[in-house]
This record gives sequence, structure tokens and C-alpha cells, in this order.
Amino acid sequence: MPILVMKFGGTSVADLDRIRNAAQKVRREVDRGYDVIVIVSAMSGKTNELVGWVNQTSPLFDAREYDAVVSSGENVTAGLMALTLQEMDIPARSWQGWQVPLKTSSAHSAARILDIPRANIDQKFAEGMKVAVVAGFQGISEEGRITTLGRGGSDTTAVAFAAAFAAERCDIYTDVDGIYTTDPRITKKARKLEKIAFEEMLELASLGAKVLQTRSVELAMRYKVRLRVLSSFEETDEASGTLVCDEEEIMESKVVSGVAYSRDEAKLTLLSVADRPGIAAAIFTPLSQAGINVDMIVQNVSADGRTDMTFSCPVDQVLRAEKAMNEARARGEINFDELAQDTEVCKVSVVGIGMRSHAGVAAKMFEALKAENINIKVISTSEIKISVLIDRKYMELAVQALHDAFGLDKAA
Ligand code: ADP
Ligand code: ASP
Ligand code: MG
Repeated sequence: MPILVMKFGGTSVADLDRIRNAAQKVRREVDRGYDVIVIVSAMSGKTNELVGWVNQTSPLFDAREYDAVVSSGENVTAGLMALTLQEMDIPARSWQGWQVPLKTSSAHSAARILDIPRANIDQKFAEGMKVAVVAGFQGISEEGRITTLGRGGSDTTAVAFAAAFAAERCDIYTDVDGIYTTDPRITKKARKLEKIAFEEMLELASLGAKVLQTRSVELAMRYKVRLRVLSSFEETDEASGTLVCDEEEIMESKVVSGVAYSRDEAKLTLLSVADRPGIAAAIFTPLSQAGINVDMIVQNVSADGRTDMTFSCPVDQVLRAEKAMNEARARGEINFDELAQDTEVCKVSVVGIGMRSHAGVAAKMFEALKAENINIKVISTSEIKISVLIDRKYMELAVQALHDAFGLDKAA
């Protein structure tokens, strides 16, 4: 039997009615002749609640216990989905990550998938089971501890299963009907794309477009998984949604194809650090060991042998970053006057593979922000993206201004 992977995100399984609605979509695919692997997220809001409980209990928590707690939301929806399917006379059962077993690295809260042995699920399909419901987002480490794959990780579970089981397609059902030029919740002018290139989606995801987790796009690209995003609330068919595919399959060619944002960023500046060989390593090694996802880095021009070093990271990692820097100072590895914090910033980025061969994108972006009187705090660029750090209160305005400036509401 051909295999199809169907993933339902948090809002798609937010209550029992929605689980029933998702199960109807599964039934349709079973009727079409597929064996289906369903990946479920926790009910919407559940994971946030669990993360909140962990933070309230232990602000600098043990990441293994964090994973034990926050993975639990998916266990509930997996069981409920299997029960719902059984009530519809569809042979189904649930699996938690460790039961598969979905084997991961031991990088707790950001674990990478190492292996998904097929034997258990294949055997059940051979015995007549039609649907395997798997709890997304979670796995088991070599040490036998429960791990999670990072926020939004159920997307990655889904793509990894599609690759492991050579599925015909991986359908990501969510609360929007496809991938847009920017988050449709920020501007009504956002335009749905029929197709998007892996490279562009990878960049948009890594810059904050949470419609797909970055790692899921990486895996789909590497293992050539046909990946589609579509609505769980509308009638859908083979042609619905947005397909993530190779650049060659796409007719549309705009210089900039999308705008992404990451709302909760922080800018930290170590004031007056000694400007000497090895200082960057002395700062960023302990930050990396503390699990801080450092993003942008700027070093000021030095004066009198001292300089300022600025970096950005997610706002919820500021406490850990501060601790790592104070400890490095206490060990005598670095010296600084003060760690200045700006926790009210966000990152806005424009992305497009056309940038490889077109100049002037940066200038156009900066002009558009200037026209709205938005001050840029940090800039970073790569081959196919330009990002700026700005005050969070201007985020929506900046996204709208850039969407307009690059004419993204119109097809190429
Ligand atoms: P799920 O719970 O189904 O995994 P997510 O909330 O993780 O859903 O992702 C879907 C959301 O991603 C949408 O509701 C939308 O607000 C947001 N989003 C951000 N950027 C985009 C984009 N470019 N296209 C579509 N949705 C986007
Ligand atoms: N429930 C997890 C989260 O909210 C995983 C997911 O939904 O993809 O991040
Ligand atoms: Mg998601």
C-alpha cells in the first residue's frame, strides 16, 4: 500500500470536534487506498502552558526534565486521535516517540532525529492496521531519556517519517491554507504561493516564519520529500495548499519572494571588552556551551584596546546568556564593564533566491524603513536574505512596508 503522512498542528487538534474533523480527512485518504501515518501536535496552547509551568518551577531548568514535561501534550492528542479513528471503524493505534522508537541525539529541547526504525509500524500495517498515530515533537535519546525537537518540532517528526517510510507525500495541515509571501496575520495583502523553493522556505523558516520548522524543510530537501502545507479547516484536494519543491519546478521569479519576522529577540552588548586575539572565542564558546542560539554579531571599532561586542539571541535565553557571561568573567576568561540589554527588539527579514543575481535589494529595504521612520539597530546579510533588528513596536509596520516596497501582493 502507498503510504501518506498527514500532520495536524495544535489548532487543528485544539478540541474533540477538531480532532474529529482531522480524523475525517484521514478517513478520506484511507478510502483512497493509503496506509496513513498521522503525526499530531499538542492541543493549541498546551505546550506553552507546559513550558510556563517548567519556568515557574525552575527558571534555569534541567533540560531533561523540561523535555519530560513539555512532550506530554502530544501524548494526549495521539491517544485521542487513535480513539476517534477507532470510533469511525478505522483500525488505528497510537505511538509515543519512544515506542516507535524515534531515536534522537541527547541535545535536550533541540534534539536531532538519528533514526526511525520501521519494523514496529510496518508489522502493524501488515496485520491490517490502517492508521499509525504518532505523537510529534518527541523522541528518545541513547541514554533512554525523553527528548523534544524544538518548538514547532512536529513538522520535523512528520517529514522524518515521510522520509523513513518513503511516503508518497507529507501533508502539513494547519490553520492557514498554504504558505504566503508573509504571515497572513500581519497583512491582508499577503499572497498565497502555489509553490515555493526549498531554499527560500528554509530561509523564511529559519528567520521566523513558523508555518514550518526549519529542520523539517532541511530534511525534506535532503530526502526529496514532497512537502505540502494546507488547511485543516477547509475542503482540500490534491491541488490544495502550497507545495515546497525544487527551484526548477517554479515559474514565478521575483527578486524578493517573502518577508519573515521573529518577534521575541534580544540585543545584548558587552561594553568595553579587551580587543585581543581570542576574545570572540572567549565570549561565544561559553554562550554556545550554555545552549544560547546567538544570531547576529557586531563588533565595534576599538578604541584604546577596548571594544563593544553586540549579539542577538531569543529573548527567553537572556537570563542564561547573562549567567554564562558573568561566569566567564568570574573565571577570568573575559572582562567587560557592563552587559547592556535591549529586550524590546525584533528581527525582520526579506528573502529571495533572486537576490543572488540582483543588486539594490538592501538599499530598497533601508529606504522603505526610512520612509516609516524606523531605526535599524543591527543588519546582517547572506546570499539570499537581508535581516534587520528594529524596535519590536514597529514590527507589523516594517513587515507591511517591506511587503509593499517589493510588490509582493502581485504575482511576478
Ligand atoms: P501549527 O500549530 O499548525 O503547527 P503554526 O502556528 O506553527 O501552526 O504555524 C502556522 C502559522 O504560521 C500561521 O497561523 C501563520 O500565522 C504563521 N505564518 C508565519 N509566516 C507564514 C507564511 N509565510 N505563510 C503562512 N503562514 C505563516
Ligand atoms: N507542540 C509543540 C510546540 O508547540 C510541537 C509542535 O506543535 O510542532 O512547539
Ligand atoms: Mg507549527
